[in-house]
Amino acid sequence: MTTLKAVRGTRDLLPPETALWNRIEATARDVFARYNFGEIRTPLFEDTGLFARGVGEETDIVSKEMYTWEDRARAQSEKSQSLTLRPENTAGVVRAYIEHKLGETGQLQKLYYIGPQFRRERPQKGRYRQFSQIGAEVIGPPSAGSESPLRDAEVLEMLATLLDELGIHGWTLHLNSVGSAADRARYNETLRAALIPLAPKMCADCQRRAVTNPLRVLDCKVPEDQPIIDTLPVIADSLDETSRAHFAQVTAALDAAGVPYTRNHRLVRGLDYYTRTTFEFTHGGLGAQNALLGGGRYDGLSEAIGGPKAPGIGFAMGEDRLVLTLQAQEAAAPQVPPKADAYIAPLGESMDAAALALARELRHKGLQIELGDGSFRLKKSFETADKTARHIVILGEDELKSGILTVKNFATTNQSKVSRAELAELLSQ
Ligand code: ATP
Ligand code: MG
Repeated sequence: MTTLKAVRGTRDLLPPETALWNRIEATARDVFARYNFGEIRTPLFEDTGLFARGVGEETDIVSKEMYTWEDRARAQSEKSQSLTLRPENTAGVVRAYIEHKLGETGQLQKLYYIGPQFRRERPQKGRYRQFSQIGAEVIGPPSAGSESPLRDAEVLEMLATLLDELGIHGWTLHLNSVGSAADRARYNETLRAALIPLAPKMCADCQRRAVTNPLRVLDCKVPEDQPIIDTLPVIADSLDETSRAHFAQVTAALDAAGVPYTRNHRLVRGLDYYTRTTFEFTHGGLGAQNALLGGGRYDGLSEAIGGPKAPGIGFAMGEDRLVLTLQAQEAAAPQVPPKADAYIAPLGESMDAAALALARELRHKGLQIELGDGSFRLKKSFETADKTARHIVILGEDELKSGILTVKNFATTNQSKVSRAELAELLSQ
């Protein structure tokens, strides 16, 4: 029989690595709570139309990366439906915002999510077909202040805090403004004209983009094209007064808060409902897949999927890439894996039941306990205990009767006798 394996681009996460995932998620939840965000959990699959409209037909995600299937009707009364595993979570959050009429509260909605996303990409380091994102959105009616540049700055400052509290050192915030839809249309034409004499010297993709969607030329990764792209006009010069003022307020607030950033003129998104602030946080340790997270303003998204006017700003961080970054840092400064407080070694199988009772007693007092096995010889118990715990507690007939237990501390090699009542105190040291 052929052995079954995890599907290409998916993987199992095992201890001790899962402890790192949990630590990242706990830190994120803690930071989000301090900024007064609440958690939203949307379904893992949605109607395909949501992503076609909410992410954009012309994006890589929708044009080639989605897991889509025709979900057959199960009864005459049902229709078959095209469904898609979510490739990202912003569209789902905005759909939920519209569906539950959250805009009618008149308040800003500050929502975060943590969970798996699915994209059919070529798997490589930092790029998987099932991966996890930690993201947040601030969205609401304009009367709630959802268009304010202070919201952009606050989200960016929160991200700087989160990365710092996670212990990720050396990140770079790349910041830009793509202006309004009209600014972008103007810039596209400026680019189109500038590219006429240059495109013939560029890669085949750029030659095509120069005609169909000149903005996308800025995404080109071909090394030979980079010096040419560096000479192209920048979008900053195509922004109108309002967009310029908005961006200036975002950067002024970041300066006041002491959050460092670099202006990256190439950070543009090609979709009509992306507006103004766009950003990315990168980390040098990640190699080719160096983006830790991306985000920006999407003032037209709600309307693009049939909702009311609901400007918003959000981001999605790649949790897998946070893990890789922290693992690389920890490899440079290795940490000793944590051990249980004690290993309880029953002396013979007749002591197993009493050992379970003792383990329960100690665990209820908050200690981390590894329960041994009465069928092990004492030597094997000691060897197993030394690998997993800081102390070993021997439990035989005599100990059970007298209530005096023998404890060995592996670090100090001290062996001591202690009453059952004082045991927890000793083991916690
Ligand atoms: P990239 O340029 O790396 O493909 P993207 O523009 O597709 O990124 P977004 O859709 O903005 O990325 O997603 C936000 C973040 O999610 C990325 O910065 C990255 O950290 C993470 N991410 C995206 N795709 C994957 C993937 N296939 N595997 C792991 N993480 C991913
Ligand atoms: Mg991608």
